[in-house]
Amino acid sequence: MNENPYTKETKSVVENTEFTADEVFDFEDSPYKDEFSKTFNFSKGALSLAAKYGVDNGLIFFYNDFSVNARAGKSNGYNIICLNSGLQIWTIQNLFEKNEIHEILKAIYVNEIDYLDNPINVLMYQLTMHFTFYHELAHLVQKSEYLESHLYERPFEVEEFDLTRHKLEIDADSFSGISIASHIQQYALKHFGDDLDSNKMESLIEIFCSSSLLYFLSFQTCKGEIYYYENSHPHPMIRILNIILTITHYLQQSPKLAERKITLNHKMIFKETIKTTALLETNVFTTKESENFEKFITTEMKEIVKYISKIRGFKPENFKLAIDVWNENTKKNNVA
Ligand SMILES: [Zn+2]
Repeated sequence: MNENPYTKETKSVVENTEFTADEVFDFEDSPYKDEFSKTFNFSKGALSLAAKYGVDNGLIFFYNDFSVNARAGKSNGYNIICLNSGLQIWTIQNLFEKNEIHEILKAIYVNEIDYLDNPINVLMYQLTMHFTFYHELAHLVQKSEYLESHLYERPFEVEEFDLTRHKLEIDADSFSGISIASHIQQYALKHFGDDLDSNKMESLIEIFCSSSLLYFLSFQTCKGEIYYYENSHPHPMIRILNIILTITHYLQQSPKLAERKITLNHKMIFKETIKTTALLETNVFTTKESENFEKFITTEMKEIVKYISKIRGFKPENFKLAIDVWNENTKKNNVA
């Protein structure tokens, strides 16, 4: 009998790394088994291809913990990504199972809806899980010394400001943003074919960016005061701003889209992403975080730009930037 790939993976985790069997989440009896399994298959496939970024001996599993968290680390020479079972369940309950999202947005995106292969809430759910996976993968690509003690996405207590950690996080978000942008482009070309135009491309980006925005706005740290040079992680609102700009910028530069004369208006995409998110917040989640986000962006723009250029200008010597590794790899492929 063929062994189930997840069982095989977790066996290897327990045999070869510091993790014990109790720490591994077995989704066999979960009502969400199918979705767990799909996330695992996607992530494992992408992790196996990450040798091109210098990441080998990769293992990925769901950590048995119902809080919404993820981490990347090294153990006994293995590169490990742990997605908490709570993260998968949160995204299922807040996106995958929320058909209302599709019902509300199909009236807004009337010109795009018939091209999509899945309901909008399902696409948003997939993108959110993929985003987290690529963010963790970026930490493995960086090969920083922090991997030895495991990089937790949401630390258990407030930690001191650490410029290197901020840099690692912003870089991991940018790497993930580019990976996602490249998926969005593939999706657009596949499903819209010759009908793809600037408006449809912008709509697609807005839909995907709204799901990231919804996810980040749910962070507890998003509800507090804005900060810059504090905590181990950058403020979620700054992170999401960087992610949306990275996705849009990548697609604006894309030769494949330029070939089709597709031009993207980043200001419009940004405005519409907030509008779509606000609509979902009001009608589905009864929250108002996107209002704060908009206010924050308008009043704090100068500070944010200063902060981002400081982080970008900081060139660490003891780890690689995932974004540089991505660029080197793309260059190599274009030459070949
Ligand atoms: Zn991180």
